[in-house]
Amino acid sequence: MSNVLVLVDHIGGVVPRAVGELATFGKRIGSVTAVVCSSQSASLIPQLSSFSIDKVIVCEGVEFEKYSVGATAQALQQVVAKESPRAVLITSSARGKEIAGRLAVRCEFGLITDAIDVSAEVIATQSVFGGSTTVHSSISHGVPIVTLRSNSVDVQIGSTAPVIENLSVSYDGVDKAVVTSLEPAVKGGRPELTEASIVVSGGRGTDGNFAPVEEIADLLGAAVGASRAATDAGWYPHSNQVGQTGKTVSPQLYVACGISGAIQHRAGMQTSKTIVAINKDPDAPIFDVTDFGVVGDLFAVLPQAIGALKAD
Ligand SMILES: Cc1cc2nc3c(=O)[nH]c(=O)nc-3n(C[C@H](O)[C@H](O)[C@H](O)COP(=O)(O)OP(=O)(O)OC[C@H]3O[C@@H](n4cnc5c(N)ncnc54)[C@H](O)[C@@H]3O)c2cc1C
Repeated sequence: MSNVLVLVDHIGGVVPRAVGELATFGKRIGSVTAVVCSSQSASLIPQLSSFSIDKVIVCEGVEFEKYSVGATAQALQQVVAKESPRAVLITSSARGKEIAGRLAVRCEFGLITDAIDVSAEVIATQSVFGGSTTVHSSISHGVPIVTLRSNSVDVQIGSTAPVIENLSVSYDGVDKAVVTSLEPAVKGGRPELTEASIVVSGGRGTDGNFAPVEEIADLLGAAVGASRAATDAGWYPHSNQVGQTGKTVSPQLYVACGISGAIQHRAGMQTSKTIVAINKDPDAPIFDVTDFGVVGDLFAVLPQAIGALKAD
């Protein structure tokens, strides 16, 4: 049976749901081997037990936290040489794409980034040009490396007891970047924008008042996004911008509040599973992509929705 490698990247010692998605995609192709490149493997491995993973390879012998992406790519290269997998699947985060790129160069394999689906035949699907074109592609050279966007598939929950294998890997130091200090951004209680299964975004229509957007986001356990008009106005951090020059999100539910739906904004949210918009202009282009649209003033609509959620 084909073997698929899935890289287990983590955020502050927590394995994100995206790894479960990679395992779910991997199962379509063959048996799934999770690769852990971290000094925190003891706490990470138990978190993998609910995903459909057959084997875990723990890479040892390298200070991954210090040497970061370069060391992880080198370790993956050694795992690939040992396992001869059918494919390597990595999360489409900035870090994941950097590791994937380095691995592709080192191994001279083909690479597809930002896929939203991958089939049993390792044919990847990408949504490009602001979601106006869907591309199906496969790799003809070497082992396919595919990075997949978060929230692209429902995680297949399993209760596996994977075989754990320790592999001694080496790092030749060629990639010179060394992490001298790592200070995770101070975060509130909200989920990471690109990982969240619900995103509530505000635009120019908020007039700078994000309070109702944040309140409903917190009730839904959602991340908060913003249009570029809102971030350029300084109403919300640029790190929360959704769109062509911001982040790409693909949550189960995207709620756009006071956002017109310019093509550059849609490029970052169009693949969301369900899209809801609140806008007082019935002709706003956002309504072209919504599943559920509310024509109205967000300062009247959101308090009603918040009240209904609180009453539940
Ligand atoms: C190269 C380039 C890259 C870009 N990248 C991005 C990007 O990454 N992300 C992005 O978002 N944009 C991006 N833009 C900007 C984009 O073109 C739009 O200007 C921007 O998305 C508009 O933001 P908005 O919808 O919040 O504002 P507007 O277009 O001004 O829309 C505001 C909407 O709010 C509605 N509204 C007003 N008041 C209320 C109310 N009280 N209740 C309900 N509705 C109300 C209005 O009817 C209107 O539809 C980019 C542009 C360029 C040229």
